[in-house]
Amino acid sequence: MQCPHCGHNSSKVIDSRPTDDGRVIRRRRECENCGFRFTTFERVEVTPLLVIKKNGNREEFNREKLMKGIVRSAEKRPVSMNAITDLVDRVENRLRSSGESEVTSNEIGEYVMEDLASLDQIAYIRFASVYRQFKDMSVFYKELKEMMEKSGSNPTDNSGDK
Ligand SMILES: [Zn+2]
Repeated sequence: MQCPHCGHNSSKVIDSRPTDDGRVIRRRRECENCGFRFTTFERVEVTPLLVIKKNGNREEFNREKLMKGIVRSAEKRPVSMNAITDLVDRVENRLRSSGESEVTSNEIGEYVMEDLASLDQIAYIRFASVYRQFKDMSVFYKELKEMMEKSGSNPTDNSGDK
């Protein structure tokens, strides 16, 4: 990375962080010759990840779409946008680190639910009910009961400060 000040060819990275959508890495660099500091934005190469839907169709993994689904589930819940972004990051990393170029929408849903269950139970229930399309409410209540027993807490507890 050439220094914009003196043209020297080597610089050291002093700070490195992904931008909000995770596709671009912002780097603060310092020229090793003159000490000039500058910022670069470097695109992360991502290999396409295809999602196999329930009907067998493929579509490209869409982070925004996944994010929207979770935001909707977490509406009016004490879940911050940061927590949701982190969750989506974890899910996406998990999908990409599997090394597969295709994943099923089922896998994605399961990963989200696992993670969401420990974040907010109401959001989890909403997501699960949309995602699994519970046809039979008794199945839904059974899952809910199991989850409550597992976590040992009351999902209607709204003690988060407001
Ligand atoms: Zn320089």
